[in-house]
Amino acid sequence: MLAGYAVNVQRSRGRRFPESPHPYRNDFQRDRDRVIHARAFRRLEAKTQVFTRRYSDHFRNRLTHTIEVAQITRTIAAALHLNVDLAEALALVHDIGHPPFGHAGEKSLDAVMRSHGSFFDHNLHALRIVEDFEQRYAAFRGLNLTFEVREGIVKHSRDYSSADHPELAEYLLVQRPPLEAQLVDWTDEIGYCTADLDDGFESHLLTLPQIRGGVPVFDRFFRKVENTYPDAPEKLQFNEALKLVFNRLAGDLIENTQARIQQEGIQTLADIRESKTRLAGFSAEVESERSQIKQFLYDHLYYSPSLAGEKDDAERIVTELFAFWLENPSALPQNYRDKAGQEALPRVVCDYIAGMTDHFIIEQHEKYCGGNNFHSAQIPQTRLQT
Ligand code: MG
Repeated sequence: MLAGYAVNVQRSRGRRFPESPHPYRNDFQRDRDRVIHARAFRRLEAKTQVFTRRYSDHFRNRLTHTIEVAQITRTIAAALHLNVDLAEALALVHDIGHPPFGHAGEKSLDAVMRSHGSFFDHNLHALRIVEDFEQRYAAFRGLNLTFEVREGIVKHSRDYSSADHPELAEYLLVQRPPLEAQLVDWTDEIGYCTADLDDGFESHLLTLPQIRGGVPVFDRFFRKVENTYPDAPEKLQFNEALKLVFNRLAGDLIENTQARIQQEGIQTLADIRESKTRLAGFSAEVESERSQIKQFLYDHLYYSPSLAGEKDDAERIVTELFAFWLENPSALPQNYRDKAGQEALPRVVCDYIAGMTDHFIIEQHEKYCGGNNFHSAQIPQTRLQT
């Protein structure tokens, strides 16, 4: 079943702390399940993807986004005869290091850390979560995940140099990650590009003419759907067209990755690791369609005036709370006060904030910074009154 270049669980480099085998699950299946049972995974439910809860409960949050990415990843990994268990574990863990308030929260946290000569990176934060912050086992800190899952957390979306990150040296930084990890960067893109069009339309922040005008691949499929289902409600025509966009992206990722594997004469996992470039990706034509969708979302949704108020709130809450705890470390919970004895205070405060859910950080802000004057968004009508 497995391709020669897939990661074989029997040849895993193993865990930091050796454990005896499980009677029913292999090591990657156990890692997938450890991620699902982590507290940080459960908190994804209360973290913004694009829309905060004030909009509606119908929109994706970071947990439902993660579940969608896992679904896409399983299908594509299976079609490429890759290790589905490893790919699924990596998809489920890919956003576990995200702070509250989506992209705005991440940007603000990075900005305050930079003013203290450091930075915030959600992939590296995810590694700290699974290595240290999660406490479930008596024998060790963290989740004791296999090397391949930790490597995928670090390397799925970007390359880190060992000069800048000597602490990551064990993760074979000069080598490409396995395809199971490379895939997740693209399945994440497929997931949010299509879901954000969907939620953007549902929220009425994006209109059908706007999407058809700005996303040619969507328009092409929409015309097709109009011919097939001329009498269907507009929202269902929209869904059908979006499904065709989704299938085009997923199908192309499978076919183009397969073609590149063949062109490069890839036979083994070592070939993948030593190849000059990453091999998972779209064809040139579909890549340009994907980047059009992304650009459209940036121009009309992510930076739209309607979401600007919430972004400003996010930035203010993160910045003010960070400054508060830096000046008043005695107001931190005891476990973070203990950590401040061993690590720089800005990093400890950053770790605390990064772990928070949207409503917990708002509560903390109200408690310590007295702020309760946030923008309120109107709740939109749903497109289909079901
Ligand atoms: Mg994601």
